[in-house]
Amino acid sequence: MDIHRVAAFRDNYIFVLHDVERGQAAVVDPGDAEPVFHTLKQLGATLTAIFNTHHHSDHVGGNRQLLEQFPQAQVYGGIEDRGRIPGQTHFLQEGDRVPICDCQAEVIFVPGHTRAHIAYYVAPATPHDWGELFCGDTLFAGGCGRLFEGTPQQMVESLGKLRQLPDQTRVWCAHEYTLSNLKFAVTVDGTNAALQQRLKQVQAARAQDQPTVPTELGLEKQTNPFLRWDQANLQQAMNSTSTVQTFARLRGKKDLF
Ligand code: ZN
Ligand code: FE
Repeated sequence: MDIHRVAAFRDNYIFVLHDVERGQAAVVDPGDAEPVFHTLKQLGATLTAIFNTHHHSDHVGGNRQLLEQFPQAQVYGGIEDRGRIPGQTHFLQEGDRVPICDCQAEVIFVPGHTRAHIAYYVAPATPHDWGELFCGDTLFAGGCGRLFEGTPQQMVESLGKLRQLPDQTRVWCAHEYTLSNLKFAVTVDGTNAALQQRLKQVQAARAQDQPTVPTELGLEKQTNPFLRWDQANLQQAMNSTSTVQTFARLRGKKDLF
């Protein structure tokens, strides 16, 4: 399975998954159909599946147009998103397994950004390979999604599930928010040397208009404050000893940043 990162709108990423042997493709969170059509054409591939992480229009806005051209395509989304995802044919919950190109993905229920949000995780073929995580607007490089329909408690549990995945997991998040996320991160975790180093790297990459997605989960665990609510220095900075309260205060500060 080849993964192609396709830029859309101002800062969205759509992922086209290509099964080279069969000439088939799937797409994750097609907010816009046009760039997906363009990529499919380049690859000479037929679209057989759409995987949506949640119902926001910058993630599902292209579904209808894609289905007009590829009416056979299956549309996967969370069970709680019933009625909110155009063309949805599969209603998924925690632990479900779905075919994704020539691989299998496991569904992880990650409410918080929305109440129905799911992530798709493709485990590595061997322990030495990389896993792939498509996490929509739940975990971002250096940050996490805003809480629109969920509580801090839910988001901590959701991010906690993602944090349990192996360090060698590529995180394919749906927005290029990394630089502003890391600028915030250093204000709350300024003594973290790995974070400082990462901020420099990301600043250099963005200055040259290079993407910072995918990121690696191991690096996120070291540098993303929204996976570090149980670190003593972050709890101290948020003046709290509770993980949920620490997370809530971090998220509140980021909302105003
Ligand atoms: Zn969203
Ligand atoms: Fe989004």
